[in-house]
Amino acid sequence: MSYEAFALQQATGIIYSMSACILKAYKYRLYPNTEQQEFFAKSFGCARFVWNKMLHDKIEHYEKTKTTLKNTPAQYKKEFEWLKEVGSLALANVQLDLQKAFQSFFKSSFGFPKFKRKGIKDSYTTNNQKGTVAVTSRSIKLPKIGLIKAKIDREINGLIKSATVSKTPAGRYFVSVLVETIAQPLPKTNSSVGIDLGITDFIVLSDKTEVVNPKFLAKYEKKLAREQKILAKRREVAKAANRKLSESRNYQKQRLKVAKVYEKIANCRKNFLHKTSFNLIKNHDVIVIEDLNVKGMVKNRRLAKAISDSSWSEFATMLTYKADWYGKQLVKIDRWFPSSKTCSGCGHVLGRGELTLAIRQWQCPSCNAVLDRDYNASINILNEGLRYLLSITKTLGARELAQSICITSDGVQRTPSSLCIT
Ligand SMILES: [Zn+2]
Repeated sequence: MSYEAFALQQATGIIYSMSACILKAYKYRLYPNTEQQEFFAKSFGCARFVWNKMLHDKIEHYEKTKTTLKNTPAQYKKEFEWLKEVGSLALANVQLDLQKAFQSFFKSSFGFPKFKRKGIKDSYTTNNQKGTVAVTSRSIKLPKIGLIKAKIDREINGLIKSATVSKTPAGRYFVSVLVETIAQPLPKTNSSVGIDLGITDFIVLSDKTEVVNPKFLAKYEKKLAREQKILAKRREVAKAANRKLSESRNYQKQRLKVAKVYEKIANCRKNFLHKTSFNLIKNHDVIVIEDLNVKGMVKNRRLAKAISDSSWSEFATMLTYKADWYGKQLVKIDRWFPSSKTCSGCGHVLGRGELTLAIRQWQCPSCNAVLDRDYNASINILNEGLRYLLSITKTLGARELAQSICITSDGVQRTPSSLCIT
């Protein structure tokens, strides 16, 4: 065994031997009765009201005094008595979410917290206090409301922390149950892989695998465009007849149809991302990706559609937490690393403007190798990730590596199974 292979095994072996505590979410479809639907509507409404009120007061206070207002949901209960009708936990969670939104705004490139509108991402979160949230074979128990009929297609494994109830624009209810559990490492494969974000494919791997975007997405997207056209027509008809959109039955019926197709697309895409990320984690011990600045790249028109379509950032997030769950190692390399324009054979780097997006294949002027653009990039990404992994194994002792804990921007403590070198 070469020293490099040995060091790599050491670095990954440490990760495997640690049993990390992880948070996992289980999502179930809910079938609330009329009374329960009313309770949910009230909870969504109160959560939204408190969010908007607290945000509004914070902004106003800052404009007047240039200092931060420390307001709490409790102080609004006197003036708005109906807030007492929903659980105090739901309101306490709004405060936490608002804090997180401000933290993300100050720490990263996230935008300023936005006001919430009815019907868009309706949700509220409550916590488990000694069994107030529970999952049975056919229902979910929630504080203040009791048992709600649910489709339980996966068994929960771990300690329930909280539950978030949501309603989609198409009118379906879901609950996401957050559980604390112990990570279950997957078996070692002694394989490592580099991933390049493809332009025509979804991703290209350094073992030459090309993962294409699922075809059914294009089919549903055509359907979505068709239904949206009909919706626009119905809007005009209602306008011409001087009818309010909320009172136009034809418009509302079509609006629901559009929402359903939209949800279908989102679900299909999510399933595809879950399946692809899990397979990568299962088949490889070390996975190297580029830490892409998707926001910056979307500005580039030609790449915009490819990137937003393939939901790269969601995919990277899935790889990050799945690496944690299953004891594998994800390495993110610097976004400015010239992965595309470096020859993976001899290391020659092309100059500025020598490799346009249209070029799918190029010949290295130094060693004459003919290179496939994406495949060549994925090899460079893998090599750069391995080089980095070796450098930290050399500088850090095994114990230090195991003990070093990074704190991510969301405040979660992580074991070093996902490393970032930007
Ligand atoms: Zn070359």
